[in-house]
Amino acid sequence: MNSMHSLLKDVASLPSLPAIAARIIREVKRDKIALSELADVVTFDPALTTKILRVANSSFYSLPYKVDSLEKAVRIIGFEALKNIALSFVIVKGFKGNTYDDFDHDFFWRRAITAAVSADLIASKLQVKRDDTFVTSLLMDIGVLIIYMLRPDDYLRALDEKKVSHITTCEAEKGVFGFDHQDVGGEILKQWDIPENIYMPIACHHKTEDCPSEVKNIVDVLMLADLSSSVYHGSRSIEKFMELKRGLQDKLNMPDHEVSEFVDLIAEKTIEVLSSFEVDASDMKPHSLLLQEANEELGKLNLSYEQVMMELKQAKDLAEKFAVEAWEAKEKLRDLAVRDGLTNLFNHRYFQEYMDNELERTERYSREVSLIMIDIDHFKHINDTYGHPNGDMVLRSMSDMIQKTIRTNDMVARYGGEEFVVVLPETGIKGAVILAERLRILVSEMELTINDNPLDFTISLGVTTYDPEKGSKKKAEIIALADKALYNSKKTGRNKLSIMT
Ligand code: GH3
Ligand code: MG
Ligand code: MG
Repeated sequence: MNSMHSLLKDVASLPSLPAIAARIIREVKRDKIALSELADVVTFDPALTTKILRVANSSFYSLPYKVDSLEKAVRIIGFEALKNIALSFVIVKGFKGNTYDDFDHDFFWRRAITAAVSADLIASKLQVKRDDTFVTSLLMDIGVLIIYMLRPDDYLRALDEKKVSHITTCEAEKGVFGFDHQDVGGEILKQWDIPENIYMPIACHHKTEDCPSEVKNIVDVLMLADLSSSVYHGSRSIEKFMELKRGLQDKLNMPDHEVSEFVDLIAEKTIEVLSSFEVDASDMKPHSLLLQEANEELGKLNLSYEQVMMELKQAKDLAEKFAVEAWEAKEKLRDLAVRDGLTNLFNHRYFQEYMDNELERTERYSREVSLIMIDIDHFKHINDTYGHPNGDMVLRSMSDMIQKTIRTNDMVARYGGEEFVVVLPETGIKGAVILAERLRILVSEMELTINDNPLDFTISLGVTTYDPEKGSKKKAEIIALADKALYNSKKTGRNKLSIMT
Protein backbone atom coordinates (compact mmCIF):
# COMPACT_ATOMS: atom_id res chain seq x y z
CA MET A 1 0.00 0.00 0.00
CA ASN A 2 2.88 2.37 0.75
CA SER A 3 4.01 2.22 -2.85
CA MET A 4 0.46 3.07 -3.90
CA HIS A 5 0.38 6.14 -1.72
CA SER A 6 3.69 7.26 -3.15
CA LEU A 7 2.22 6.80 -6.63
CA LEU A 8 -0.81 8.86 -5.72
CA LYS A 9 1.42 11.55 -4.27
CA ASP A 10 2.53 12.37 -7.80
CA VAL A 11 -0.23 14.94 -7.81
CA ALA A 12 1.48 17.12 -10.34
CA SER A 13 0.63 14.67 -13.09
CA LEU A 14 -2.59 13.43 -11.56
CA PRO A 15 -5.77 14.52 -13.29
CA SER A 16 -7.58 16.80 -10.92
CA LEU A 17 -11.30 16.57 -10.65
CA PRO A 18 -12.97 19.33 -12.65
CA ALA A 19 -14.25 22.12 -10.41
CA ILE A 20 -17.84 21.52 -11.40
CA ALA A 21 -17.52 17.82 -10.50
CA ALA A 22 -16.23 18.77 -7.09
CA ARG A 23 -19.28 20.99 -6.60
CA ILE A 24 -21.68 18.28 -7.73
CA ILE A 25 -20.02 15.78 -5.37
CA ARG A 26 -20.52 18.17 -2.51
CA GLU A 27 -24.19 18.46 -3.46
CA VAL A 28 -24.50 14.71 -3.95
CA LYS A 29 -23.24 14.21 -0.41
CA ARG A 30 -25.76 16.58 1.05
CA ASP A 31 -29.04 14.92 1.78
CA LYS A 32 -31.27 17.87 1.54
CA ILE A 33 -30.43 20.18 -1.27
CA ALA A 34 -32.98 22.21 -3.12
CA LEU A 35 -33.51 21.54 -6.79
CA SER A 36 -32.72 25.16 -7.51
CA GLU A 37 -29.29 24.67 -5.94
CA LEU A 38 -28.49 21.65 -8.11
CA ALA A 39 -29.83 23.55 -11.10
CA ASP A 40 -27.44 26.37 -10.21
CA VAL A 41 -24.50 24.00 -10.22
CA VAL A 42 -25.57 22.20 -13.35
CA THR A 43 -26.31 25.31 -15.40
CA PHE A 44 -22.75 26.39 -14.64
CA ASP A 45 -22.04 24.17 -17.62
CA PRO A 46 -24.92 24.93 -20.01
CA ALA A 47 -24.31 21.85 -22.15
CA LEU A 48 -24.80 19.69 -19.09
CA THR A 49 -28.51 20.47 -18.74
CA THR A 50 -29.06 19.51 -22.36
CA LYS A 51 -27.22 16.24 -21.87
CA ILE A 52 -29.09 15.38 -18.72
CA LEU A 53 -32.37 15.97 -20.51
CA ARG A 54 -31.18 13.83 -23.40
CA VAL A 55 -30.51 10.94 -21.06
CA ALA A 56 -33.81 11.45 -19.29
CA ASN A 57 -35.60 11.33 -22.65
CA SER A 58 -33.64 8.37 -23.97
CA SER A 59 -35.13 4.90 -24.05
CA PHE A 60 -32.88 4.17 -21.08
CA TYR A 61 -35.56 5.58 -18.81
CA SER A 62 -38.54 4.77 -21.05
CA LEU A 63 -40.50 7.79 -19.88
CA PRO A 64 -44.13 8.05 -20.94
CA TYR A 65 -43.65 11.61 -22.26
CA LYS A 66 -40.93 14.08 -23.10
CA VAL A 67 -39.30 16.10 -20.33
CA ASP A 68 -37.93 19.49 -21.21
CA SER A 69 -36.77 20.88 -17.88
CA LEU A 70 -34.68 19.74 -14.95
CA GLU A 71 -37.75 20.11 -12.74
CA LYS A 72 -39.73 17.61 -14.80
CA ALA A 73 -36.78 15.25 -15.01
CA VAL A 74 -36.49 15.32 -11.23
CA ARG A 75 -40.16 14.53 -10.78
CA ILE A 76 -39.89 11.49 -12.99
CA ILE A 77 -36.49 9.95 -12.50
CA GLY A 78 -35.88 11.29 -9.03
CA PHE A 79 -33.50 13.72 -7.54
CA GLU A 80 -30.87 11.18 -6.45
CA ALA A 81 -30.68 9.59 -9.88
CA LEU A 82 -30.36 13.00 -11.48
CA LYS A 83 -27.48 14.00 -9.22
CA ASN A 84 -25.68 10.81 -10.12
CA ILE A 85 -26.22 11.35 -13.86
CA ALA A 86 -24.75 14.84 -13.50
CA LEU A 87 -21.78 13.39 -11.64
CA SER A 88 -21.21 10.79 -14.35
CA PHE A 89 -21.19 13.44 -17.06
CA VAL A 90 -18.75 15.76 -15.42
CA ILE A 91 -16.27 13.04 -14.57
CA VAL A 92 -16.25 11.56 -18.07
CA LYS A 93 -15.93 15.04 -19.53
CA GLY A 94 -13.15 15.99 -17.13
CA PHE A 95 -11.05 12.99 -18.12
CA LYS A 96 -11.70 13.22 -21.81
CA GLY A 97 -10.32 16.74 -21.61
CA ASN A 98 -6.94 15.43 -20.51
CA THR A 99 -5.16 14.02 -23.50
CA TYR A 100 -2.60 11.33 -22.97
CA ASP A 101 -0.86 10.14 -26.06
CA ASP A 102 -1.20 6.40 -26.04
CA PHE A 103 -4.35 5.98 -24.07
CA ASP A 104 -7.50 5.25 -26.05
CA HIS A 105 -9.93 7.32 -24.00
CA ASP A 106 -12.86 6.57 -26.25
CA PHE A 107 -12.31 2.86 -25.81
CA PHE A 108 -11.97 3.20 -22.04
CA TRP A 109 -15.17 5.22 -21.69
CA ARG A 110 -17.07 3.12 -24.23
CA ARG A 111 -16.24 0.14 -22.05
CA ALA A 112 -17.12 1.99 -18.84
CA ILE A 113 -20.42 3.33 -20.16
CA THR A 114 -21.41 -0.12 -21.48
CA ALA A 115 -20.69 -1.52 -18.03
CA ALA A 116 -22.69 1.27 -16.42
CA VAL A 117 -25.74 0.68 -18.63
CA SER A 118 -25.43 -3.08 -18.07
CA ALA A 119 -25.18 -2.60 -14.32
CA ASP A 120 -28.38 -0.58 -14.29
CA LEU A 121 -30.24 -3.22 -16.32
CA ILE A 122 -28.85 -6.15 -14.34
CA ALA A 123 -29.52 -4.48 -11.00
CA SER A 124 -33.13 -3.84 -12.06
CA LYS A 125 -33.57 -7.50 -12.93
CA LEU A 126 -32.08 -8.55 -9.61
CA GLN A 127 -34.22 -5.92 -7.88
CA VAL A 128 -31.23 -4.33 -6.21
CA LYS A 129 -31.04 -1.19 -8.34
CA ARG A 130 -29.99 2.01 -6.60
CA ASP A 131 -29.62 5.56 -7.81
CA ASP A 132 -25.85 5.28 -7.77
CA THR A 133 -25.61 1.90 -9.57
CA PHE A 134 -24.82 3.60 -12.90
CA VAL A 135 -22.11 5.91 -11.63
CA THR A 136 -20.53 3.19 -9.45
CA SER A 137 -20.18 0.86 -12.41
CA LEU A 138 -19.03 3.73 -14.64
CA LEU A 139 -16.16 4.43 -12.27
CA MET A 140 -15.31 0.84 -11.37
CA ASP A 141 -12.12 0.75 -13.46
CA ILE A 142 -11.06 4.35 -12.93
CA GLY A 143 -7.95 2.94 -11.20
CA VAL A 144 -6.77 1.55 -14.55
CA LEU A 145 -6.91 5.02 -16.06
CA ILE A 146 -5.06 6.56 -13.13
CA ILE A 147 -2.25 3.97 -12.99
CA TYR A 148 -1.90 4.13 -16.75
CA MET A 149 -1.62 7.89 -16.73
CA LEU A 150 0.99 7.91 -13.98
CA ARG A 151 3.07 4.88 -15.04
CA PRO A 152 2.24 4.18 -18.70
CA ASP A 153 5.29 2.01 -19.47
CA ASP A 154 4.96 -0.12 -16.36
CA TYR A 155 1.26 -0.51 -17.01
CA LEU A 156 1.89 -1.81 -20.52
CA ARG A 157 4.36 -4.25 -18.97
CA ALA A 158 1.63 -5.48 -16.62
CA LEU A 159 -0.74 -5.97 -19.56
CA ASP A 160 1.93 -7.99 -21.40
CA GLU A 161 2.50 -10.09 -18.31
CA LYS A 162 -1.24 -10.75 -18.17
CA LYS A 163 -1.30 -12.02 -21.75
CA VAL A 164 1.81 -14.15 -21.45
CA SER A 165 1.09 -15.72 -18.08
CA HIS A 166 -2.72 -16.04 -18.44
CA ILE A 167 -3.29 -14.26 -15.15
CA THR A 168 -5.99 -11.76 -14.25
CA THR A 169 -5.53 -8.02 -14.67
CA CYS A 170 -5.39 -7.58 -10.89
CA GLU A 171 -2.74 -10.29 -10.52
CA ALA A 172 -0.65 -8.68 -13.26
CA GLU A 173 -0.98 -5.22 -11.69
CA LYS A 174 -0.05 -6.59 -8.27
CA GLY A 175 3.01 -8.30 -9.76
CA VAL A 176 4.30 -5.08 -11.30
CA PHE A 177 3.12 -2.44 -8.80
CA GLY A 178 2.31 -4.29 -5.60
CA PHE A 179 -1.30 -3.00 -5.77
CA ASP A 180 -4.11 -3.15 -8.30
CA HIS A 181 -6.66 -0.86 -9.93
CA GLN A 182 -9.24 -1.60 -7.25
CA ASP A 183 -6.91 -0.23 -4.56
CA VAL A 184 -6.12 2.86 -6.62
CA GLY A 185 -9.72 3.44 -7.71
CA GLY A 186 -11.02 3.18 -4.15
CA GLU A 187 -8.30 5.47 -2.86
CA ILE A 188 -8.58 8.19 -5.46
CA LEU A 189 -12.38 8.33 -5.29
CA LYS A 190 -12.02 8.67 -1.54
CA GLN A 191 -9.56 11.52 -2.05
CA TRP A 192 -12.05 13.15 -4.37
CA ASP A 193 -14.58 12.88 -1.59
CA ILE A 194 -16.91 10.65 -3.60
CA PRO A 195 -19.51 9.05 -1.26
CA GLU A 196 -18.55 5.81 0.48
CA ASN A 197 -21.34 3.76 -1.09
CA ILE A 198 -19.73 4.44 -4.47
CA TYR A 199 -16.05 3.87 -3.68
CA MET A 200 -16.43 0.92 -1.28
CA PRO A 201 -17.70 -1.60 -3.86
CA ILE A 202 -15.18 -0.26 -6.40
CA ALA A 203 -12.34 -1.01 -3.99
CA CYS A 204 -13.26 -4.72 -4.01
CA HIS A 205 -15.10 -5.38 -7.30
CA HIS A 206 -12.82 -8.32 -8.15
CA LYS A 207 -12.57 -9.85 -4.66
CA THR A 208 -15.99 -10.29 -3.14
CA GLU A 209 -14.40 -12.02 -0.15
CA ASP A 210 -12.87 -8.78 1.07
CA CYS A 211 -16.04 -6.77 0.51
CA PRO A 212 -18.15 -5.69 3.45
CA SER A 213 -21.44 -7.60 3.33
CA GLU A 214 -23.47 -4.46 2.65
CA VAL A 215 -21.86 -4.07 -0.77
CA LYS A 216 -22.20 -7.75 -1.78
CA ASN A 217 -25.24 -7.10 -4.00
CA ILE A 218 -23.69 -4.27 -5.93
CA VAL A 219 -20.39 -6.17 -6.33
CA ASP A 220 -22.28 -9.12 -7.85
CA VAL A 221 -23.86 -6.62 -10.26
CA LEU A 222 -20.48 -5.01 -11.07
CA MET A 223 -18.97 -8.41 -11.91
CA LEU A 224 -21.77 -9.24 -14.35
CA ALA A 225 -21.66 -5.71 -15.80
CA ASP A 226 -17.92 -6.04 -16.38
CA LEU A 227 -18.55 -9.29 -18.27
CA SER A 228 -21.31 -7.68 -20.37
CA SER A 229 -18.96 -4.91 -21.35
CA SER A 230 -16.27 -7.43 -22.32
CA VAL A 231 -18.75 -9.16 -24.64
CA TYR A 232 -18.88 -5.95 -26.70
CA HIS A 233 -15.41 -4.56 -26.19
CA GLY A 234 -12.86 -7.26 -25.84
CA SER A 235 -10.89 -9.82 -27.73
CA ARG A 236 -12.53 -12.86 -26.15
CA SER A 237 -16.12 -11.92 -26.85
CA ILE A 238 -17.44 -15.48 -27.26
CA GLU A 239 -15.90 -16.71 -24.07
CA LYS A 240 -17.19 -13.69 -22.20
CA PHE A 241 -20.69 -14.18 -23.64
CA MET A 242 -20.69 -17.76 -22.36
CA GLU A 243 -19.46 -16.65 -18.96
CA LEU A 244 -22.08 -13.91 -18.79
CA LYS A 245 -24.76 -16.38 -19.80
CA ARG A 246 -23.75 -18.72 -16.98
CA GLY A 247 -23.72 -15.80 -14.55
CA LEU A 248 -27.19 -14.61 -15.59
CA GLN A 249 -28.56 -18.14 -15.50
CA ASP A 250 -27.09 -18.77 -12.05
CA LYS A 251 -28.43 -15.55 -10.59
CA LEU A 252 -31.70 -15.21 -12.48
CA ASN A 253 -32.49 -18.61 -13.95
CA MET A 254 -32.72 -16.87 -17.33
CA PRO A 255 -33.49 -19.20 -20.26
CA ASP A 256 -31.14 -19.03 -23.28
CA HIS A 257 -33.35 -16.89 -25.52
CA GLU A 258 -33.88 -14.32 -22.75
CA VAL A 259 -30.13 -14.07 -22.23
CA SER A 260 -29.70 -13.24 -25.92
CA GLU A 261 -32.47 -10.62 -25.81
CA PHE A 262 -30.98 -9.15 -22.67
CA VAL A 263 -27.47 -8.93 -24.13
CA ASP A 264 -28.94 -7.23 -27.23
CA LEU A 265 -30.83 -4.78 -25.07
CA ILE A 266 -27.58 -3.78 -23.40
CA ALA A 267 -26.15 -2.76 -26.79
CA GLU A 268 -29.29 -0.89 -27.83
CA LYS A 269 -29.43 1.17 -24.66
CA THR A 270 -25.67 1.68 -24.55
CA ILE A 271 -25.48 3.12 -28.07
CA GLU A 272 -28.01 5.76 -27.11
CA VAL A 273 -26.31 6.60 -23.82
CA LEU A 274 -22.88 6.77 -25.53
CA SER A 275 -24.12 9.52 -27.78
CA SER A 276 -25.30 11.53 -24.77
CA PHE A 277 -21.78 11.21 -23.38
CA GLU A 278 -20.34 12.17 -26.76
CA VAL A 279 -18.37 8.96 -26.85
CA ASP A 280 -18.12 7.30 -30.24
CA ALA A 281 -20.13 4.07 -30.33
CA SER A 282 -17.63 2.71 -32.85
CA ASP A 283 -19.32 -0.23 -34.59
CA MET A 284 -21.16 -1.47 -31.54
CA LYS A 285 -24.20 -3.56 -32.54
CA PRO A 286 -26.50 -5.97 -30.69
CA HIS A 287 -24.78 -9.30 -30.28
CA SER A 288 -27.42 -11.32 -32.14
CA LEU A 289 -27.27 -8.87 -35.05
CA LEU A 290 -23.54 -9.49 -35.38
CA LEU A 291 -24.21 -13.19 -35.62
CA GLN A 292 -27.12 -12.71 -38.03
CA GLU A 293 -25.04 -10.50 -40.32
CA ALA A 294 -22.42 -13.18 -40.54
CA ASN A 295 -25.15 -15.55 -41.62
CA GLU A 296 -26.65 -13.24 -44.24
CA GLU A 297 -23.29 -12.50 -45.73
CA LEU A 298 -22.87 -16.18 -46.35
CA GLY A 299 -26.02 -16.07 -48.50
CA LYS A 300 -24.60 -13.25 -50.61
CA LEU A 301 -21.40 -15.12 -51.31
CA ASN A 302 -20.47 -15.01 -54.96
CA LEU A 303 -17.21 -15.40 -56.69
CA SER A 304 -16.72 -11.99 -58.24
CA TYR A 305 -13.22 -10.70 -57.94
CA GLU A 306 -14.30 -7.48 -56.21
CA GLN A 307 -15.69 -9.46 -53.40
CA VAL A 308 -12.54 -11.24 -52.42
CA MET A 309 -11.97 -8.87 -49.53
CA MET A 310 -15.59 -9.19 -48.49
CA GLU A 311 -15.36 -12.93 -48.52
CA LEU A 312 -12.36 -12.84 -46.27
CA LYS A 313 -14.35 -10.87 -43.76
CA GLN A 314 -17.33 -13.18 -44.14
CA ALA A 315 -15.14 -16.18 -43.57
CA LYS A 316 -13.88 -14.59 -40.39
CA ASP A 317 -17.38 -13.70 -39.17
CA LEU A 318 -18.67 -17.11 -40.09
CA ALA A 319 -15.83 -18.76 -38.25
CA GLU A 320 -16.86 -16.74 -35.24
CA LYS A 321 -20.46 -17.90 -35.60
CA PHE A 322 -19.38 -21.52 -35.85
CA ALA A 323 -17.13 -21.03 -32.89
CA VAL A 324 -20.14 -19.81 -30.91
CA GLU A 325 -22.19 -22.81 -31.96
CA ALA A 326 -19.37 -25.24 -31.26
CA TRP A 327 -18.83 -23.62 -27.92
CA GLU A 328 -22.51 -23.85 -27.09
CA ALA A 329 -22.61 -27.51 -28.07
CA LYS A 330 -19.56 -28.17 -25.96
CA GLU A 331 -21.10 -26.29 -23.06
CA LYS A 332 -24.28 -28.38 -23.35
CA LEU A 333 -22.27 -31.59 -23.32
CA ARG A 334 -20.22 -30.35 -20.42
CA ASP A 335 -23.42 -29.41 -18.62
CA LEU A 336 -24.80 -32.90 -19.13
CA ALA A 337 -21.66 -34.37 -17.63
CA VAL A 338 -21.40 -32.08 -14.64
CA ARG A 339 -25.01 -31.25 -13.73
CA ASP A 340 -27.45 -33.22 -11.64
CA GLY A 341 -30.58 -34.01 -13.66
CA LEU A 342 -33.16 -33.36 -10.94
CA THR A 343 -31.90 -30.11 -9.43
CA ASN A 344 -29.64 -28.82 -12.22
CA LEU A 345 -26.99 -28.16 -9.57
CA PHE A 346 -23.47 -29.43 -10.12
CA ASN A 347 -23.12 -33.14 -9.42
CA HIS A 348 -20.90 -35.03 -6.99
CA ARG A 349 -18.20 -35.73 -9.53
CA TYR A 350 -17.89 -32.08 -10.49
CA PHE A 351 -17.75 -31.12 -6.82
CA GLN A 352 -14.78 -33.44 -6.30
CA GLU A 353 -12.92 -32.00 -9.30
CA TYR A 354 -13.77 -28.46 -8.27
CA MET A 355 -12.40 -29.11 -4.79
CA ASP A 356 -9.14 -30.43 -6.25
CA ASN A 357 -8.71 -27.21 -8.24
CA GLU A 358 -9.85 -24.97 -5.44
CA LEU A 359 -7.45 -26.56 -2.94
CA GLU A 360 -4.58 -26.12 -5.35
CA ARG A 361 -5.42 -22.41 -5.64
CA THR A 362 -5.96 -22.10 -1.91
CA GLU A 363 -2.50 -23.46 -1.24
CA ARG A 364 -0.78 -21.49 -3.96
CA TYR A 365 -2.15 -18.18 -2.72
CA SER A 366 -2.41 -19.07 0.99
CA ARG A 367 -6.11 -18.32 1.06
CA GLU A 368 -8.94 -19.86 3.04
CA VAL A 369 -11.79 -21.93 1.66
CA SER A 370 -14.95 -22.93 3.50
CA LEU A 371 -17.32 -25.84 3.05
CA ILE A 372 -20.94 -26.15 4.16
CA MET A 373 -22.51 -29.59 4.15
CA ILE A 374 -26.32 -29.59 4.22
CA ASP A 375 -28.78 -32.41 4.85
CA ILE A 376 -32.57 -32.14 4.92
CA ASP A 377 -34.07 -33.19 8.23
CA HIS A 378 -36.42 -36.19 8.26
CA PHE A 379 -36.62 -36.23 4.49
CA LYS A 380 -37.77 -39.81 4.50
CA HIS A 381 -40.85 -38.63 6.36
CA ILE A 382 -41.56 -36.03 3.64
CA ASN A 383 -41.38 -38.75 0.97
CA ASP A 384 -43.51 -41.12 3.04
CA THR A 385 -46.17 -38.49 3.78
CA TYR A 386 -46.43 -36.62 0.47
CA GLY A 387 -45.01 -39.06 -2.04
CA HIS A 388 -41.74 -39.20 -3.95
CA PRO A 389 -42.66 -36.61 -6.65
CA ASN A 390 -43.38 -34.03 -3.96
CA GLY A 391 -40.08 -34.98 -2.33
CA ASP A 392 -38.43 -34.17 -5.67
CA MET A 393 -40.22 -30.83 -5.75
CA VAL A 394 -38.80 -30.00 -2.31
CA LEU A 395 -35.28 -30.87 -3.52
CA ARG A 396 -35.69 -28.66 -6.58
CA SER A 397 -37.16 -25.69 -4.73
CA MET A 398 -34.47 -25.80 -2.10
CA SER A 399 -31.73 -26.09 -4.72
CA ASP A 400 -33.05 -23.00 -6.54
CA MET A 401 -33.16 -21.09 -3.31
CA ILE A 402 -29.56 -21.96 -2.38
CA GLN A 403 -28.34 -21.12 -5.87
CA LYS A 404 -30.01 -17.72 -5.73
CA THR A 405 -28.65 -16.98 -2.27
CA ILE A 406 -24.98 -17.69 -2.79
CA ARG A 407 -22.53 -15.36 -4.56
CA THR A 408 -21.32 -15.77 -8.13
CA ASN A 409 -17.98 -17.06 -6.88
CA ASP A 410 -19.49 -19.69 -4.60
CA MET A 411 -20.43 -23.16 -5.79
CA VAL A 412 -23.26 -25.46 -4.75
CA ALA A 413 -23.51 -29.13 -5.67
CA ARG A 414 -25.87 -31.99 -4.93
CA TYR A 415 -23.64 -34.23 -2.85
CA GLY A 416 -26.06 -37.16 -2.86
CA GLY A 417 -29.79 -37.90 -2.21
CA GLU A 418 -30.91 -35.03 0.02
CA GLU A 419 -27.42 -33.82 0.83
CA PHE A 420 -25.87 -30.69 -0.61
CA VAL A 421 -22.52 -29.02 -0.34
CA VAL A 422 -21.57 -25.36 -0.76
CA VAL A 423 -17.94 -24.36 -1.43
CA LEU A 424 -16.97 -20.80 -0.54
CA PRO A 425 -13.62 -19.81 -2.05
CA GLU A 426 -11.62 -17.16 -0.20
CA THR A 427 -14.04 -17.25 2.70
CA GLY A 428 -13.18 -17.64 6.37
CA ILE A 429 -15.24 -19.34 9.05
CA LYS A 430 -17.10 -16.14 9.96
CA GLY A 431 -18.42 -15.62 6.44
CA ALA A 432 -19.28 -19.30 6.10
CA VAL A 433 -21.26 -19.36 9.34
CA ILE A 434 -23.20 -16.26 8.35
CA LEU A 435 -24.20 -17.87 5.04
CA ALA A 436 -24.98 -21.24 6.66
CA GLU A 437 -27.23 -19.59 9.22
CA ARG A 438 -28.95 -17.54 6.51
CA LEU A 439 -29.60 -20.72 4.51
CA ARG A 440 -30.95 -22.48 7.60
CA ILE A 441 -33.39 -19.65 8.27
CA LEU A 442 -34.39 -19.26 4.61
CA VAL A 443 -35.21 -22.97 4.40
CA SER A 444 -37.25 -22.90 7.59
CA GLU A 445 -39.17 -19.93 6.16
CA MET A 446 -39.74 -21.38 2.68
CA GLU A 447 -43.41 -21.36 1.79
CA LEU A 448 -44.04 -24.62 -0.07
CA THR A 449 -47.55 -26.01 -0.37
CA ILE A 450 -48.98 -29.34 -1.40
CA ASN A 451 -52.69 -29.22 -2.27
CA ASP A 452 -52.86 -25.87 -0.50
CA ASN A 453 -51.42 -27.35 2.67
CA PRO A 454 -48.19 -25.78 3.86
CA LEU A 455 -45.16 -28.06 3.87
CA ASP A 456 -42.58 -27.07 6.47
CA PHE A 457 -39.13 -28.58 6.63
CA THR A 458 -35.69 -27.81 8.01
CA ILE A 459 -32.04 -28.56 7.33
CA SER A 460 -29.01 -29.39 9.42
CA LEU A 461 -25.62 -28.02 8.48
CA GLY A 462 -21.93 -28.69 9.09
CA VAL A 463 -19.40 -25.95 8.47
CA THR A 464 -15.62 -26.13 8.16
CA THR A 465 -12.86 -23.84 6.95
CA TYR A 466 -9.48 -24.80 5.61
CA ASP A 467 -6.65 -22.34 6.13
CA PRO A 468 -3.42 -23.76 4.63
CA GLU A 469 -1.41 -21.44 6.86
CA LYS A 470 -2.65 -23.35 9.91
CA GLY A 471 -1.41 -26.71 8.67
CA SER A 472 -1.97 -28.71 5.53
CA LYS A 473 -5.07 -30.91 5.09
CA LYS A 474 -6.14 -33.27 2.36
CA LYS A 475 -9.46 -32.94 0.54
CA ALA A 476 -10.91 -36.03 2.20
CA GLU A 477 -10.06 -34.68 5.66
CA ILE A 478 -11.77 -31.36 4.94
CA ILE A 479 -14.91 -33.07 3.64
CA ALA A 480 -14.87 -35.42 6.63
CA LEU A 481 -14.76 -32.42 9.00
CA ALA A 482 -17.83 -30.85 7.37
CA ASP A 483 -19.55 -34.23 7.51
CA LYS A 484 -18.69 -34.70 11.17
CA ALA A 485 -20.00 -31.21 11.97
CA LEU A 486 -23.23 -32.07 10.13
CA TYR A 487 -23.54 -35.33 12.08
CA ASN A 488 -23.16 -33.31 15.27
CA SER A 489 -26.04 -31.01 14.22
CA LYS A 490 -28.23 -34.07 13.61
CA LYS A 491 -27.27 -35.64 16.93
CA THR A 492 -27.94 -32.52 18.94
CA GLY A 493 -31.42 -31.72 17.69
CA ARG A 494 -31.38 -30.87 13.90
CA ASN A 495 -32.35 -27.50 12.32
CA LYS A 496 -29.00 -26.09 13.39
CA LEU A 497 -25.41 -25.71 12.30
CA SER A 498 -22.18 -26.99 13.85
CA ILE A 499 -18.60 -25.99 13.17
CA MET A 500 -15.59 -28.26 13.06
CA THR A 501 -12.12 -27.13 11.98
P1 GH3 B 1 -32.23 -37.18 8.89
O1 GH3 B 1 -32.96 -36.04 9.53
O2 GH3 B 1 -31.47 -37.98 9.86
O3 GH3 B 1 -31.36 -36.71 7.78
O4 GH3 B 1 -33.33 -38.14 8.29
P2 GH3 B 1 -33.70 -38.38 6.79
O5 GH3 B 1 -34.99 -39.09 6.73
O6 GH3 B 1 -33.65 -37.10 6.05
O7 GH3 B 1 -32.48 -39.24 6.26
P3 GH3 B 1 -32.32 -40.62 5.55
O8 GH3 B 1 -30.90 -40.62 5.07
O9 GH3 B 1 -32.78 -41.73 6.45
O10 GH3 B 1 -33.29 -40.59 4.34
C1 GH3 B 1 -33.02 -39.88 3.16
C2 GH3 B 1 -34.15 -40.10 2.21
O11 GH3 B 1 -33.97 -39.29 1.04
C3 GH3 B 1 -34.29 -41.51 1.77
C4 GH3 B 1 -34.34 -41.44 0.27
O12 GH3 B 1 -35.38 -42.22 -0.25
C5 GH3 B 1 -34.64 -39.99 0.00
N1 GH3 B 1 -34.12 -39.56 -1.29
C6 GH3 B 1 -32.85 -39.64 -1.76
N2 GH3 B 1 -32.78 -39.16 -3.02
C7 GH3 B 1 -34.02 -38.75 -3.37
C8 GH3 B 1 -34.60 -38.16 -4.56
O13 GH3 B 1 -33.93 -37.90 -5.57
N3 GH3 B 1 -35.92 -37.85 -4.54
C9 GH3 B 1 -36.68 -38.10 -3.44
N4 GH3 B 1 -37.97 -37.76 -3.49
N5 GH3 B 1 -36.18 -38.67 -2.34
C10 GH3 B 1 -34.87 -39.00 -2.28
MG1 MG C 1 -31.75 -36.17 5.86
MG1 MG D 1 -29.10 -38.09 4.44
